[in-house]
Amino acid sequence: MVLADLGRKINSALRSLSNAVVINEEVLQELLKEICKALLEADVNIKLVKRLRENIKKCIDFDEMATGLNKRRIIQSTVFNELCKLLDPGVPAWQPSKGKPNVIMFVGLQGSGKTTTCTKLAYYYQKKGWKTSLVCADTFRAGAFDQLKQNATKARIPFYGSYTEMDPVVIAQDGVQKFKSDNFEIIIVDTSGRHKQEESLFEEMLQVSNAVDPDNIIYVMDASIGQACESQAQAFKSKVDIASVIVTKLDGHAKGGGALSAVAATCSPIIFIGTGEHIDDLEQFKTKPFVSKLLGMGDIEGLMDKVTELKLDENEGLIDKLKHGQFTLRDMYEQFQNIMKMGPFNQIIGMIPGFGSDFLSKGNERESMSRLKKLMTIMDSMSDQELDNPNGAKLFTKQPSRTARVARGSGTSVREVQELLTQYQKFAQMVKKMGGIKGLFKGGDMGKNVNPAQMAKLNQQVAKVMDPRVLQQMGGMGGLQSLMKQFQQQMGPGGR
Ligand code: GDP
Ligand code: MG
Repeated sequence: MVLADLGRKINSALRSLSNAVVINEEVLQELLKEICKALLEADVNIKLVKRLRENIKKCIDFDEMATGLNKRRIIQSTVFNELCKLLDPGVPAWQPSKGKPNVIMFVGLQGSGKTTTCTKLAYYYQKKGWKTSLVCADTFRAGAFDQLKQNATKARIPFYGSYTEMDPVVIAQDGVQKFKSDNFEIIIVDTSGRHKQEESLFEEMLQVSNAVDPDNIIYVMDASIGQACESQAQAFKSKVDIASVIVTKLDGHAKGGGALSAVAATCSPIIFIGTGEHIDDLEQFKTKPFVSKLLGMGDIEGLMDKVTELKLDENEGLIDKLKHGQFTLRDMYEQFQNIMKMGPFNQIIGMIPGFGSDFLSKGNERESMSRLKKLMTIMDSMSDQELDNPNGAKLFTKQPSRTARVARGSGTSVREVQELLTQYQKFAQMVKKMGGIKGLFKGGDMGKNVNPAQMAKLNQQVAKVMDPRVLQQMGGMGGLQSLMKQFQQQMGPGGR
C-alpha cells in the first residue's frame, strides 16, 4: 500500500470516531484494529506496530477520563503522537553552517538515487542562497559523470569531474579542494554504488571519506525495498559515519511506511524524502508536518516555510495596489512567477488543511505549469507600457496591432494572446471586487479586521467571480490559495 493510501485509511478510521454514538473500549479496539492493519499493509514492521498499539492503549484509560472530556479528541491526538513517534528517529538533523565550506558526501547502493538526489539537494541549497557545487567521484558506473554534468548544467550548478582520471579518491580530493578555494559553501560529493553491500564498495567509501573529510555523510535509500531498509541502513552505518538519511522514490509504489519507520528505527535522522524524478521533487522531512499531511490535516508549517521562502512580505507595493483594486498585467506576471516558484501545485495543495491525502499523486500539475509558462512567455513579449498600464487589456483592444506584435514575438497565435487578455481582465475584476470588500484592507491593520469566517466568504466570492476555466489555468484552488495566503500573511497571525 502506498503512503497516500495509508494516510487515507488511518484518516477514515479516525473519522469513524465522530460517527460513534458512544466511545468506549470496544470502539477503541475496532479503531486500533483498522489502524494496525493499514500500517502492516504499508509494510511497517510488526514489532513497531505492536508497540504503537500498546502505547495507545496505555495512554487511553476510559475509567480515568472525566465524562466531560472530549474522548474523540484525546484518542485522535494520541494516535497522532504515536504515529509521529514511529517515524521520529529522535536525533536532530544536521544543518550546514554559513560562511564556511560544508562538504556533504553521498553514499548508497547503485540505483538508489544518489546522483539524482545530489542534484536535487544542490538545487535546494542554491535556491536558498548558498554557494553550491557538485563533485562526481563515481568512476565505477559508465556515464556517471555525464549524468551529473547534465543535471548540474540544467540547474546551473558548478560541477567537477573527469573523463580520464579513474581514481575516485583523486577526483573527490581535487574537486573539493578546488571548490573550497573558490569559497563554495556547499560542496556535494557523489560517489559510486554497487548492486550489493560488498567490501569493495565500503573500501572505496572509506577512502573517499578520509580524503575529503565530509561534514555530513548522507546515506541514500530506495524506499521500494520496504522493511529491508533497516538492515541495509545498519550495514552502512557500521562502516561509515552516516549522519543523515534521504529516502527516495516515495512517490512510486513503494511501501513507504516500511521504509520510513525502518530507517527511523536505526536512529538515523531522515532529512529529506525524494518524491519524484524531477529536480524539485525533494521535500524536507519533519515528522509532525509529515504525519499531518499524511492524514490530510494540512501542513501549515510547510506552507509558511514556502511562503517565507518567496519573501512575499517584500510585496508591499502589490498589496497597496490591490487595496485600491488595481491590478496590471505585470502584477499578473509576478503572481504567476510566485506560483511557479512555489513549486508544483500539488505540493502546495497538500499543505492546505482539507486538501491533504492526495499530495503524492501528480497528475495535471505539470500541464498547468506548462500552461502558466506559456502565458508568461506571451507577457515576456509585451512592452513596459503594456505591462504597467492600469488597464492593459483596453490598450490592446484600442490598438489591435499590439496583439499581432505580441503573438509574433512570443511565437503564439493572436487568439492565444487574446485569451490571455481575457483572463487578465477577469482576474483584474476579481481584484477590484476584493479591494471593495469592506474591512479587508482597512488601514494598515488588517489582522484585526478579517476573521476566518470572512476569509471563507472571500474565498467563496472569488470562486464566484472566476470562470472555472480560468481558475483551472491558475493552478486551481492551489494557485488561488497562494494568492490568498499572501493576503493572509499581510494580515498577520490574527487573520489566519
Ligand atoms: P544512483 O545509481 O544511486 O546514482 O541512482 P540515480 O540517481 O542514477 O537514480 C536511479 C534511478 O532512480 C533514476 O532513473 C532516477 O530518475 C530514479 N529516481 C531517483 N530518485 C527518485 C525519486 O525520488 N522518485 C522516482 N520516481 N525516481 C527516482
Ligand atoms: Mg550515480
